[in-house]
Amino acid sequence: MTKIWTKKTQEEIKEIVFDALNKNVDYDKKNILGLPASRLDEKVFNHDVSFLKEAPYMSALSQNPNHIGCHTLGKSEPFFKGTHAIEKELIGICACDILKGNYEEQDGYVASGGTEANIQAIWIYRNYYQNEFSAHHNEIAIVCSEDSHYSIDKAANLLLLDIYKIPVNNDTRDFSNKSVEKTLERAKNDGKKYFIIVCNLMTTMFGSIDDIEKLTNSLEKLSCEFKLHVDGAFGGFYYPFIDENSQLTFQNPAITSFTLDAHKMAQSPYGTGIFLIRKGYIKYANTQASYVEGTDYTLIGSRSGANAIAVWMILAKNGPHGWHEKIFILQKRTDWMCKSLKELGIKYYRNPMSNIIAIRAEYINREIAVKYGLIPNDYLDPKWFKIVIMNHVSIEKLALLVDEIKSTVCNKTELIANRHTKHEASVERHSGRLIYGQINGIFVQ
Ligand SMILES: *Cc1c(COP(=O)(O)O)cnc(C)c1O
Repeated sequence: MTKIWTKKTQEEIKEIVFDALNKNVDYDKKNILGLPASRLDEKVFNHDVSFLKEAPYMSALSQNPNHIGCHTLGKSEPFFKGTHAIEKELIGICACDILKGNYEEQDGYVASGGTEANIQAIWIYRNYYQNEFSAHHNEIAIVCSEDSHYSIDKAANLLLLDIYKIPVNNDTRDFSNKSVEKTLERAKNDGKKYFIIVCNLMTTMFGSIDDIEKLTNSLEKLSCEFKLHVDGAFGGFYYPFIDENSQLTFQNPAITSFTLDAHKMAQSPYGTGIFLIRKGYIKYANTQASYVEGTDYTLIGSRSGANAIAVWMILAKNGPHGWHEKIFILQKRTDWMCKSLKELGIKYYRNPMSNIIAIRAEYINREIAVKYGLIPNDYLDPKWFKIVIMNHVSIEKLALLVDEIKSTVCNKTELIANRHTKHEASVERHSGRLIYGQINGIFVQ
């Protein structure tokens, strides 16, 4: 497999980005009269400051290249061809080096986020079924697990498609073959003939990873026509570095497209969702814009080229080995936290290949949740609180949380030992010491 991704020094990165910016249009030196575009307003943003010379990303922001369209195929706007080439290389790194695709066999672009990339995928497959099978939108169904991100519901709503959710086990957050088959049968009974499957490469709340074989086995068993999209908005820059035998790569012929979000685990600026799809499909998103040279196969239209440059710089600076090390450290911290929780007898969910820990809500009181910024699965009726082990989430910080949970759990053990009744437990809640939701459940159990 061709490797595109190599580690680069800051000097090399600067040279490549400035060289690309120089190949873009220069509004000062050339008479460009027809574009509704210019650099950032010079009354507000000073373009001559000396630090810009050392700051390739800031320079890109200030020159403000437009990356409208898709730059992995066909023609693009010639005005920004320098930085379009960087985006093309970034798409290649994500598709080939991270997701094991063959060289130049995928298209893609930097979308506004995971939401747009997911909608783009589902939009393409809907149009594919409509164009190639003369399908009516009533005959097309989206199928995904109940833990899927709500952007899939947005796609269903926008594209007039019905959505069927596969129930998951409350403890393991995975689905059985049977529940996949039941969901597909339910859709078939409603007259659905064409399936758009979304497989989670880490769910937002739990970090769970869908078993793609269960999906494809059931789809084949029931002879379903399907296209499968992997939502790696959370896990796309994490999981491929942990599981060498991942089934969720372009080596798996059942998969046609991926979403990755660089603005989550890759610490890039917002506006850096990444959409990747095998060649031959992105044309189904074509609603020709005649004023854009080439063809716009994207949902978004105008978008900032600085975003693509930021992600490319992050990956180039770390290099593939640096990225492995970064993820390895997060993985070790997550292991440490799980071990600490286990020692306290606290119930949690964690996929061993993820950096999310979802703790059962009964172990977390309101004060702790607020103090440590823990995120509930449902603000009105929380059953779980999650911790996400990011770069800034050090073991020192995790240890403080462990200590606080320890003191509340000790209280709780005493309460159980004292055979607290339900009534007393709820009094406890009103006195403000414990607890979010499910209060009786905890003491009765
Ligand atoms: C965050 C997330 C999304 C949406 O991404 P945005 O960048 O917020 O639009 C979609 N899917 C999953 C699994 C996510 O975690």
